[in-house]
Amino acid sequence: MTTLHEPMVTGPDLSVWPASTEEPHTGAVTVGGVPLAEIADRFGTPVYVLDEGEVRERCRTYRDAFPDAEVLYAAKAFLCRAMADWIAGEGLGLDVCSAGELELAVSIGFPPERIVLHGNAKSPRDLETALRLAVGRIVIDSPSEIARLAAAVGPGGHQKVMVRVVPGISAGGHEKIRTGTDDQKFGLSIADGYAQHAIARILDQPQLELTGLHCHLGSQITSLKPYLAAVRRMVGLMARLHEQHGLVLPEIDLGGGHGIAYRPGEPALDLTALARRVRAELTESCTVAGLPVPRLIIEPGRAIVGPAGIAVYHVLAVKRTRDRTFVAVDGGMSDNPRPALYGVRYAPRLIGRHSAVAPAVVTVVGRHCEAGDLLAADVELPGDVRPGDLLAVPVAGAYHLSMASGYNMVGRPPVVAVRDGLARLLVRRESLGDIRSRDVGL
Ligand SMILES: *Cc1c(COP(=O)(O)O)cnc(C)c1O
Repeated sequence: MTTLHEPMVTGPDLSVWPASTEEPHTGAVTVGGVPLAEIADRFGTPVYVLDEGEVRERCRTYRDAFPDAEVLYAAKAFLCRAMADWIAGEGLGLDVCSAGELELAVSIGFPPERIVLHGNAKSPRDLETALRLAVGRIVIDSPSEIARLAAAVGPGGHQKVMVRVVPGISAGGHEKIRTGTDDQKFGLSIADGYAQHAIARILDQPQLELTGLHCHLGSQITSLKPYLAAVRRMVGLMARLHEQHGLVLPEIDLGGGHGIAYRPGEPALDLTALARRVRAELTESCTVAGLPVPRLIIEPGRAIVGPAGIAVYHVLAVKRTRDRTFVAVDGGMSDNPRPALYGVRYAPRLIGRHSAVAPAVVTVVGRHCEAGDLLAADVELPGDVRPGDLLAVPVAGAYHLSMASGYNMVGRPPVVAVRDGLARLLVRRESLGDIRSRDVGL
């Protein structure tokens, strides 16, 4: 049996780190050719490091695995202008869920026709921005949106839309990130007929062109089965729509949710197998239903940016209680709310110096005023870990900074890109001046 606390015998396990990671001697970790300790020195901590090569390589992996599909990066995992530029450069499209994400992407010249707008509750501004910037498709997620969108498009206008359906499939790493079932807020259910009803209403709106069905099962899914089941349910619905309305839909969007390993040894979704099996299932289901095979769309977020990011913190305090050792760092739930939200686990490690002291089991906590402000419970760090040390948390690229908050007014960390031995600032640290300047009352 393997345990999480197995002593390391062959040096540090870098399997969840970016491919460019090197450790010429213990603790001297470089990513993209830049020592992490140097980045901490130059930009301060907490700091998020993003390996541009790793992001690009992951985009290429998707393009290679899904050559006939349209791959949309889910911007909510992490977005900044450079990220949008890399995604555009690698030939991917973008999935956004607000006017903010959309405006930012278009501001660097991201082709709007390669952007899809999502959202279970789109604001008037979201829809107005999407139409003004001419996004490729808008994914309808509630019945009331149909008339609103049709009115906004106007009688002479035209907009491609998809419908987000709930296939009734439970999948995903945690209850709060499962979106394929009937008891959550996203999408329109096939089981109760809401999806079919909405589709009939869309077909009554000549300015809305329904191009396909969309579903997104959830996040951190590591098994192929839910995706194959989703294909069958979606094609089943497409067959009924064909019977009822003579409708032939050219696209099918299976969303994202592709699981990644956060700690060495954890499973990840096998993308090559996913591509092969989904293609086979789609072909077979469509043949049985007598339908042409629609073009596949997928929307990975986490699997593109998660493993490309590393969070670097300074240790501020080490506190030993009877049962535990708490190692407190200079960030926490304001830059990474995921442990508090979903109970996820990370494998932080000491960087910047070599310690010959035997590992001890500690709990890494943040600096925020909540007992739940935890980064990593029961992890091994060298027994002499002390204030001033640097800790690095790998797989920190997705749903950290995009979910960062202003809690305790510590300011959100900067993002530094590394590539070919060079580090450059992409997003600067949020300053007290930034925080004060928004506060216009008194
Ligand atoms: C969040 C989301 C994604 C991406 O999910 P990941 O788990 O990051 O791959 C894709 N599509 C939709 C509609 C989403 O809401």
